[in-house]
Amino acid sequence: DIRLENFTKRFGPTTVIEDLNLTIQDGEMLALLGPSGCGKSTTLFAICGIHRMDGGRLHFGDQDVTDTSSQNRNVGVVFQSYALYPHMTVAENIGFPLRIRGDDTASRRRAVEEMAELVQISPYLKRRPAELSGGQQQRVALARALIRRPDVLLLDEPLANLDAKLRLEMRAEIRRIQRETGITAVLVTHDQVEAMSMSDRIAIMEEGRIVQIAEPMEMYNKPASDFVAGFLGNPP
Ligand code: ATP
Ligand code: MG
Repeated sequence: DIRLENFTKRFGPTTVIEDLNLTIQDGEMLALLGPSGCGKSTTLFAICGIHRMDGGRLHFGDQDVTDTSSQNRNVGVVFQSYALYPHMTVAENIGFPLRIRGDDTASRRRAVEEMAELVQISPYLKRRPAELSGGQQQRVALARALIRRPDVLLLDEPLANLDAKLRLEMRAEIRRIQRETGITAVLVTHDQVEAMSMSDRIAIMEEGRIVQIAEPMEMYNKPASDFVAGFLGNPP
């Protein structure tokens, strides 16, 4: 599992997260749901190591990774904007994390082909990102995030840039890929329908705190507060 214990984060004098505790179970897709500014991305950045923690510990299984840099954590990240390398082909983009690691060409090619198959982008391996649709670019970003078989896959609003039809398609696709790989994943979103339809459990955040964590239907039927109920669109 992935465990955040007493996570605290400050920006200058402002404490945005204080003593947050969160366990992400092996193989689950956990949605981190809450309004803008509640601290979702900040929590994700702490897990991937982009941000230093001001307090608390982070464990990947029995390993304490609190003081390891992001390069030394095996995490896969997909952001809202896909951040693909525009000058590289799809295959080069997907294989990039393995090139950095020093894997040889043959094993890289095999891994890229396998990942391309998984995300169903195989016919496009020689193209450049600008020659792909938004959904196709997001598939490439997913393949690149997964190619090192990370301990956890972190998704920060991965569907926000897609039009409504693609968003529906990619919801199902991301869920399929997560299930097929069995990877532990965190999905950050402020869209309650996305959280309800894609995750095994939902953690609701409000002003830097987790106010309820439960399976989607349980949360919908038994919201712990008016805030949760209102946020899920099921007001009392
Ligand atoms: P959104 O849904 O809009 O992406 P979020 O839940 O991801 O919101 P965060 O980005 O985690 O929110 O921000 C949490 C709080 O921390 C906000 O009040 C934000 O203004 C503040 N914050 C985030 N990054 C910084 C920063 N680099 N410097 C100062 N304050 C920051
Ligand atoms: Mg955010």
